[in-house]
Amino acid sequence: MTDRFAKSRSLFERAQNSIAGGINSGIRKMEQPVPLYFARGSGSRLWDVDGNECIDFQTGQGALLFGHAPEGMAEAISAQVRLGTHWAAQSELEIDVAERLQAMIPSVERVRFNNSATEVVLSALRLARGLTGKPLVLKFEGHYHGWSDEGLVGFAPPPDKWGTEEEPTRLHPSKGVIPEVLDQFVVARWNDPEHLRRRVDQYRGRIAAIIFEPALCNTSCIEPAPGLLSTIRELCDREGALMIADETITGFRFGPSGAQGYYDFSPDLTIFGKAIGGGVPFAALGGRTRIFEPIIRGEVVHAGTLNANPLCLSASRWCLDQILALGKEHPTGLQCLGNKLMEGLERLAHEYAIPLHPQGPGLVFHTAMLKPGAAPGPIRDYRDCVQRHDAPRWAHLRRCLLEHGVRAIERGLWFMNLTLTEADIETTLTRATAAFAQHAA
Ligand code: PLP
Repeated sequence: MTDRFAKSRSLFERAQNSIAGGINSGIRKMEQPVPLYFARGSGSRLWDVDGNECIDFQTGQGALLFGHAPEGMAEAISAQVRLGTHWAAQSELEIDVAERLQAMIPSVERVRFNNSATEVVLSALRLARGLTGKPLVLKFEGHYHGWSDEGLVGFAPPPDKWGTEEEPTRLHPSKGVIPEVLDQFVVARWNDPEHLRRRVDQYRGRIAAIIFEPALCNTSCIEPAPGLLSTIRELCDREGALMIADETITGFRFGPSGAQGYYDFSPDLTIFGKAIGGGVPFAALGGRTRIFEPIIRGEVVHAGTLNANPLCLSASRWCLDQILALGKEHPTGLQCLGNKLMEGLERLAHEYAIPLHPQGPGLVFHTAMLKPGAAPGPIRDYRDCVQRHDAPRWAHLRRCLLEHGVRAIERGLWFMNLTLTEADIETTLTRATAAFAQHAA
């Protein structure tokens, strides 16, 4: 049998001699049967070095809301390259981008830029501590806020170290972390407002911020339970703590004002990443002017050589203009396509007796593969996901999908992008039919 990933396999072998582990981000080692090497992308499609074409729902881990290599963005970047990529100084472009953010998102009165959401999370947490003078940050189990010491606390803890439901243990998945970092966090379970209240009461007067993904996209795409976001707002106001929405995934994907518009809440600080740059390294912190005062006065340090470089700003301005031009059409059109795909996958799964459970708001969704004997119904939180999602079986189905030209994320996420059409969804479902048949055989 011919190996349809032969060139990727050979490049991965070659990479072992120069790149540590052959990859440049830990999660990429999960790709089966081998981490793929790509040659070209256009719209919703990607071509690997072996010439295999796929419809891409990984879309740069959600950054490519405008698809691969959009023409207008290529032109904006090319024009900027000729003028200079990096001045380490001010440009009108940075005001253009800041003003577009202000225009779209009511809670954004001031912004600062960085190159990745991981950095922006660090800025936000430092600012929260600097402003409030309090030491602790409350975060939720299974939420991902970047790969730093601080961002990874409580992400993907192993079941034997979970701690009780009431007192989730503060765990970090990496060695080498400064142990005291863990002491600065309180971990709570997602989607239980009464549990959250008890957790905050336990640490009364010491919490500087509550940080969260408004829709928990990094674990099973779990939308916020009724009353959760208003409880976070109320507790933050009561405690004088900052409500920090990590909209790295939801920002612009859930509409011009992101998840805060979609679910109607008003955070103090927001983290933007991924779609704000459409695939270039760009991220932003936005929030109330009052909250930025310590940064404005220089009491809380915010810096970075490549911050607000004109190359990334030119890309971001183009991306934000697309969202502004779509206006009220976004996110309805994208969501309709996403819902259609979710329904189609569920129907096919039923036909082939595969226990696949799609979940999420359509703009991004997760496909959990239920373990034998697992109860049906929505995944409720991180622990529920670990207990009911059959990761090895999903990995097999994902591989079958890839072999038939549909690329989803290793952990089960699917990101929609604005270049997808009804015809693409039909083609995806035709390809998925062959993949499901192969998986079920
Ligand atoms: N926050 C969330 C919710 C994310 O999903 C991610 C990345 O996936 C990050 C922060 C970190 O973003 P970056 O990889 O750009 O540093």
